[in-house]
Amino acid sequence: MHDDRQLVEARLKRVLDERIRPAVYPASVPLDVAVWHAPGEPVPVAEGLAASPTPIRVGDEWGAPWGTSWFTVTGTVPADWAGRTVEAVLDLGFDENMPGFQCEGLVYRPDGSPVKGLNPRNQWVRVGAPVEGGEEVRLHVEAASNPVILDYHPFLPTKLGDRETAGSKPQYRLARMDLAIFDETVWQLVIDLEVLGELMAELPADGARRWELLRAVERALDRIDLQDVNATAAAARAELAGVLATPAAPSAHRISAVGHAHIDSAWLWPLRETVRKVARTTSNMTALLEEEPEFVFAMSQAQQWAWLKEHRPEVWSRVVKAVAEGRFVPTGGMWVESDTNMPGSEAMARQFVHGKRFFLDEFGVENQEVWLPDTFGFAAGLPQIIKAAGSKWLLTQKISWSQVNTFPHHTFLWEGIDGTRIFTHFPPVDTYNCSMKGSEIAHAARNFRDKGVARHSLAPTGWGDGGGGTTREMVAKAARMRDLEGSATVTWETPAQFFAKAEAEYPAPPVWVGELYLELHRATLTSQVRTKQGNRRSESLLREAELWAATASVRAGFDYPHERLDRIWKTVLLHQFHDILPGSSIAWVHREAEKTYAAVAAELNEIIDGAQQSLAGDPASGELVFNAAPHARNGVPAGGAATVPAPSPAAAVRTRGEGGYVLDDGLLRVVIDGRGLVVSAYDLRAEREAVAPGQPANLLQIHPDFPNMWDAWDVDQFYRNTVTDLVDADEVAPGEAPGSVRVVRSFGASRVTQVLTVEAGRLDIRTEVDWHETEKFLKLAFPLDVHADRYAAESQYGHAFRATHTNTSWEAAKFEACNHKFVHVEEPGWGVALVTDSTYGHDVTRTVRACDSGTTTTLRVSLLRAPRFPDPETDQGLHRFRHVLVPGAAIGDAVREGWFVNLPERRVPGDAEVAPLVTVDDDAVVVTAVKLADDGSGDVVVRFHESRGGRARARVSTGFAATGVAVTDLLERPLADAVAPELADGSVAVSLRPFELVTLRFSR
Ligand SMILES: [Zn+2]
Repeated sequence: MHDDRQLVEARLKRVLDERIRPAVYPASVPLDVAVWHAPGEPVPVAEGLAASPTPIRVGDEWGAPWGTSWFTVTGTVPADWAGRTVEAVLDLGFDENMPGFQCEGLVYRPDGSPVKGLNPRNQWVRVGAPVEGGEEVRLHVEAASNPVILDYHPFLPTKLGDRETAGSKPQYRLARMDLAIFDETVWQLVIDLEVLGELMAELPADGARRWELLRAVERALDRIDLQDVNATAAAARAELAGVLATPAAPSAHRISAVGHAHIDSAWLWPLRETVRKVARTTSNMTALLEEEPEFVFAMSQAQQWAWLKEHRPEVWSRVVKAVAEGRFVPTGGMWVESDTNMPGSEAMARQFVHGKRFFLDEFGVENQEVWLPDTFGFAAGLPQIIKAAGSKWLLTQKISWSQVNTFPHHTFLWEGIDGTRIFTHFPPVDTYNCSMKGSEIAHAARNFRDKGVARHSLAPTGWGDGGGGTTREMVAKAARMRDLEGSATVTWETPAQFFAKAEAEYPAPPVWVGELYLELHRATLTSQVRTKQGNRRSESLLREAELWAATASVRAGFDYPHERLDRIWKTVLLHQFHDILPGSSIAWVHREAEKTYAAVAAELNEIIDGAQQSLAGDPASGELVFNAAPHARNGVPAGGAATVPAPSPAAAVRTRGEGGYVLDDGLLRVVIDGRGLVVSAYDLRAEREAVAPGQPANLLQIHPDFPNMWDAWDVDQFYRNTVTDLVDADEVAPGEAPGSVRVVRSFGASRVTQVLTVEAGRLDIRTEVDWHETEKFLKLAFPLDVHADRYAAESQYGHAFRATHTNTSWEAAKFEACNHKFVHVEEPGWGVALVTDSTYGHDVTRTVRACDSGTTTTLRVSLLRAPRFPDPETDQGLHRFRHVLVPGAAIGDAVREGWFVNLPERRVPGDAEVAPLVTVDDDAVVVTAVKLADDGSGDVVVRFHESRGGRARARVSTGFAATGVAVTDLLERPLADAVAPELADGSVAVSLRPFELVTLRFSR
């Protein structure tokens, strides 16, 4: 037979595009449209409905950036449409390729009840099926003219990302606003042909099935009267019924489709817009659930549910009903889909506490799967936290975005730093926005790396990022692929149903140990420094507020601020969302975040001050030092307060003969040369030099930084090819503070001032940068005379190791990585810690010196970048950083110094020394939280972990009358399978595995 395959395929495309799809709406009449533009920020629904709109015509411009326009559409169903299905087709001027990234709308009835959302893939509103004819139609559309930030030429700097700079030029042109007859038979024919055409394209050209589909499609097209598609659609469908009815092969891949709308809690839109995005998407999804009995929809991020409850109670009540039916499924169990690299230990834990608690409180539902499809890499502390939260499964697909290495598994056990293993699935469909295209389904089946031993994968299905969700077309396509020869099978299921099957069929999956590093978006550890510093400071203040409020509550009857702490925690957790803390949102989001963090700090300081004052006794006599760190400091116990010890004398500043200065406190002698660079840091106890010979430390280095795409997210490896060392100083002189040296440098349009001091054997560097660069990367380098093939970087509840070399492509790809409070490198018996109060990005490299053949291990912290997308002014202005170099530090010293730098002492007038509420007698055991139980019982909750990677046996002692103790999960619920330690004289003995995390709850 002659090969006419391409001819038939081309025919299918043209007939579908030009004749069949247009026939879905065979007749239409225009609606009358009027509009009222809200002056400023969104208004309440009642105000939008009550406004007086003025007429607007199709084709007219509307919508200043970030504006809200209330459209009123009115019309009458023609009498001769009686018996037909009629829909309003409302096209606000959509670009069909950008659902969620442009204008959107929410349709209301005149009584203010929401109907459904409008987006380019969802422009219809059902008027009647069937109609009687003559019905009056009146609908209101709350339309958001959100500007397009990520356009066809992506990553171009734009001022549209902030209402304050976006201007007022209309962004859209009103398109179709009609009442139309909906011909369901034609619509079904479209779906039939799409499914078969897309499947056909994926099948081998020498296989019989492909040709059977081709011939069936050809017969169907032959049945179509191109001048009367509507009359002939049924006959065409009849030709396709046979090939649609042949079942899938027994070995076919099985896809669990989960209805989904990935909604970024903020990104290319501000937080307030996400509140409305959630309302639009959930309106559509509850409507779809009512129409489609097999459909299942899952929504993550308790914060978004909370927004819906607060702002759109009518939609919320529909969601509550669907949750009760088990078809609208709370998933993820976290407050938001957060970043997991940067959140500190407690914050990562609280993401689960607040997320799970919301679902439990509202629905009595506790989901066990963690849902993080889009997060930029996963810290190795996370498995233990997932388990401690009472969850057991993890889903992400983001690692498929890695630039270099292909992850070897799609279903596997992920092992964290403490040995906890979590059953993990990466959907092989490689997207969290599956649209049920044949190419996606075929890719999932082909791509699945666990074929032969496993058969199931999950496909998050629906438009996402900016919301939108699943469409009726996706549901219709899935129905045809339920059991279809040549295709993977598709079944709507909840995430839990998928995981239960996947786990059952794969009892011994492969194991991946350590972090799930994303080989992309590495610059998110640095971009938008103020947001990152706000996060770090908030985490520290929350620790202090809980500790001192709990102490004051137990000791002095202080009113523990449960509600305020709950609210503040949720604010901080929200800002750990995977486009806020990573610095990848528009300027508006980061500008607001800075203000929010300032308010958080003010409120937490007020709580801390109040608690400390209630403990401190007579403010007229004496002064106390409060130590919130988990280790004793200068004679003040951990978690206690004592009268002020005599200040230790600052190291003297000596002038150096050949220029520069020497700082020496008897423990550490630091030599600063005439350029302001640290050429020696000599550990006087160990009689050992820390700085590599001939390679000065405290060296600021600046690189050009223009990645190939994703400006705020990415730094590409070639940035290192070009570097400028900032060695010229405007000034090197003794600083104002005793014992300090001040170094001032100018470069480009920027200026940096550093103040160096030496105290207690540590070199303290405070760096202030007035940053006015474009597309540059600023690093602070410490070349150390240390030979090590790995280094430690703090993560949640411990630390993880990474190589200092680049033997393999996996190691080479980790050229920028995350630390929390420290990085640490050591030879046996002697190491160096570099501690930071606020930076997360760093790199570690090694070189061999020509002068003495020794190895230099260079630690560099990432201070600032200057990307221009999506915020064209990213990080311009003044920034302050603190870093502390600790020569001679063992890993335990690194842990301790990290806490000290992030939790400065507080001096409070008073004379009543405060004994700690909780004491631990082993410094390796670090207390990360002391608080009152969230249930208001007054119980004291203590969370601690082994911090050095070894074993620990410790006594945990209470400074109050404890009457009982229980081991609990993160939600403070007693663990059924845990043996409670014996409480004797208010203390318990515990033994911990490396990095093991324990939560104890003491009753009083
Ligand atoms: Zn996202």
